[in-house]
Amino acid sequence: MKIGIDIGGSHIATGIVLNNGKLLAKETRDIDVSSIKEVERVETIIVDTIQNEIKTLLNRYDYTINDITRIGIAVPGSPTDTSIRNVVNLHIKEFNLAKELSEIYNINSETVERVDKCIKNQIEIKLANDGKCAGVAEKEYGALKGYDDCLFLCMGTGVGSAVFLGGKLLKAKQNPGFEFGHMIIDKDGTLCNCGKKGCFETYASMKRFKVRAIEELDLPKDVQSEEVQNFIRKNSHKTKVNKFIDKYLENVAIGVSNLINIFEPEAICFGGSFSYYDDVFLEPLAEKLKKYVFNKNTKVTLISAKLKNDAGIIGATEI
Ligand SMILES: [Zn+2]
Repeated sequence: MKIGIDIGGSHIATGIVLNNGKLLAKETRDIDVSSIKEVERVETIIVDTIQNEIKTLLNRYDYTINDITRIGIAVPGSPTDTSIRNVVNLHIKEFNLAKELSEIYNINSETVERVDKCIKNQIEIKLANDGKCAGVAEKEYGALKGYDDCLFLCMGTGVGSAVFLGGKLLKAKQNPGFEFGHMIIDKDGTLCNCGKKGCFETYASMKRFKVRAIEELDLPKDVQSEEVQNFIRKNSHKTKVNKFIDKYLENVAIGVSNLINIFEPEAICFGGSFSYYDDVFLEPLAEKLKKYVFNKNTKVTLISAKLKNDAGIIGATEI
């Protein structure tokens, strides 16, 4: 049995994942760190939240930490196997979370007093990029099961991604890589959080989609994402809304067709809140891609993520 953890900009989700990839139970806690400037306090909040959630989940099923063989943690940014790195939303430059958790859960002479119960086994603790984790979960257990060459694009706050060729996740040595969100599609375009202009995610992320919907479709500033979805779905036949969707999908098509030209995938799976719009987006997107793909005989199946918000937790225990 494993523990999977998904750390986002404003929440931490923790789950017990069985060896067959099934999520037995999960707990989600909101963490509001936006106003906290001291990095040490943010780090303490993260560690304490994880520790509490693991305890709650194990107690619920009468399990102990001895039943756990692995703790996998999905995090944004460019993590190493042990450290969170460069996560602006959490104010973290580098934080060795695996070491902190190892001191709590893996017994050694220095930390023996901190351990509540006698721990027999050494637990493997590993961090990975959240987009890659979600992609691995979709590939193993979700929408991409059965495809060898495929891409996962998590269209949410930014654009996260994972690439599989010959059934295997492509991994780079230096950084997690495959930063498709920061592929430039317009050199004089919208300013991105990374400091460059015209990155794919400044057009394609669902965060920017919502911001533009508020501006261009005159929606209230405090509108909830679900209300935007309902509005778009209900009014997609109206000229103004239809034009708005068309402009958005045109930019998505430019980025996605670049990826098709490079990787020739059999399937592309869309995660993040993009997946809640599959009935509105996928068909016109497929049509637009025809215009941009290089090999006109390319056949790509566009699919929506299956595991939704659980993908990060499940994939973190697999990667
Ligand atoms: Zn960028």
